[in-house]
Amino acid sequence: THDIHIIGGGLAGTEAAWQLARRGWRVRLSEMRGTGERSPAHQTDGLAELVCSNSLRSDDHEKNAVGLLHHEMRLCGSLIMAAAEKARVPAGSALAVDREVFSAEIEAALTAQPSLTLARERIDRLPEAGLTIVATGPLTAEALAQSIGAATGAESLAFFDAIAPIVYRDSINMDIAWMASRWDKGAEASLALGGDGRDYINCPMTRDQYLAFREEILAGEKAVFKEWEANTPYFDGCMPIEVMAERGVETLRFGPMKPVGLDNPHWATPEHPNGRWPYAVVQLRQDNTLGTLWNMVGFQTKLKYGEQQRIFRTIPGLENAEFARFGGLHRNTFLNSPTLLDRQLRLKSAPHVRFAGQITGCEGYVESAAVGLLAGLMAAHELGGRDWQSPPATTALGALLAHITGDADAASYQPMNINFGLFPPPPEEVKKKQRKEAYTLRAKAALADWLPLLG
Ligand code: FAD
Repeated sequence: THDIHIIGGGLAGTEAAWQLARRGWRVRLSEMRGTGERSPAHQTDGLAELVCSNSLRSDDHEKNAVGLLHHEMRLCGSLIMAAAEKARVPAGSALAVDREVFSAEIEAALTAQPSLTLARERIDRLPEAGLTIVATGPLTAEALAQSIGAATGAESLAFFDAIAPIVYRDSINMDIAWMASRWDKGAEASLALGGDGRDYINCPMTRDQYLAFREEILAGEKAVFKEWEANTPYFDGCMPIEVMAERGVETLRFGPMKPVGLDNPHWATPEHPNGRWPYAVVQLRQDNTLGTLWNMVGFQTKLKYGEQQRIFRTIPGLENAEFARFGGLHRNTFLNSPTLLDRQLRLKSAPHVRFAGQITGCEGYVESAAVGLLAGLMAAHELGGRDWQSPPATTALGALLAHITGDADAASYQPMNINFGLFPPPPEEVKKKQRKEAYTLRAKAALADWLPLLG
């Protein structure tokens, strides 16, 4: 018998299990590895295996959002962060680990908890009753994924991501770009949401700029699919831009870069007082309620990150663009969390089931563990009959949680790493150089007020 069933012993599941077991709750942690079964990316049977890089990224909690998340997790007694400290290897300001020591530390800490049972078993169906946390990750085993799809509606569970790059709003040059909707359409819907009918940021290109841009995309270095991803389908509407560029000179210009109905006021002349249509445009659409993040519409790509930065900065208006997320395309099981989950990560249609980790649409080892930590704390409150108060949105934990559970745009929802664009912006008078520190100082003060509520 147990108080809570956690499915998946990866980054999120182990952290959730730790938060519950160390508070005395009886946890059953089910992990399919160890039964002879593994996802195509996992190579060991160890808990919390790091499937690729051995880095948990920057540990700088003064100027870096993921470093701040480390710091907050440490203050919440995170097992992942404690194990990382013990397994740490030199890597400058990054937190890198010996992956075997890391996994062994986590397994030892969990199995030493008397209230935790580690079961090596594969779970094929969502439990119909009993508190549950599903943390089966981006490569959730198939039968369970089907069962989740049946509970959520298949269209709300994706098996591949198609990530368009996201740019910080304040790094876009509006002396070149401009706000407009195609043919000025959709004004009513826009007004209802507090907009003014000009919903997109448009970056104009001349014919020469367009042709040169297409050449760069064709020549740019691409990441290759892993062998087990080789049959990644290109769904309608999410074909990578390099595949479109290959199909013909005009394909992009008739696809995501279509300029029709977009008068550029920066190009106004006496004969064309409203401006003229560019030869091609790149459109950006608001990605979060805060309005700090904008995604490049239709720009999913497998170009390498360095190439994306170099090539996309040749787009007029994006010459100084800072990217909150680069584009990508991977096998990745994840939910449309903003529509499916409540603010406590519970499935609205079956609230005994919580989700945690990458399957909620966060991205990265640290983010997955952070969402596991939150799910564990929420479940501990629920078991104890105590009210839960979310971490403030000005903290890294709170910003990530708010994004997943409602602040992200549901229609364009794709995996997201922690970044300052998810936080409410500091007051405008804070100078650019001081902004990162303003975020982290504010977060630390807010977390200090919240921590005592945890118990
Ligand atoms: P996982 O760590 O994958 O844990 C899920 C666990 O559930 C696994 O142990 C799995 O065996 C188990 N499981 C699955 N289905 C079942 C079932 N039905 N029953 C029982 N157990 C089950 N992030 C980074 O920050 N850096 C990287 O370098 C990086 N590289 C990545 C490379 C690849 C190929 C992939 C797929 C992802 C990568 N990520 C990376 C993204 C992400 O951070 C990791 O996938 C991370 O491990 C996610 O944590 P998680 O706990 O959600 O899932």
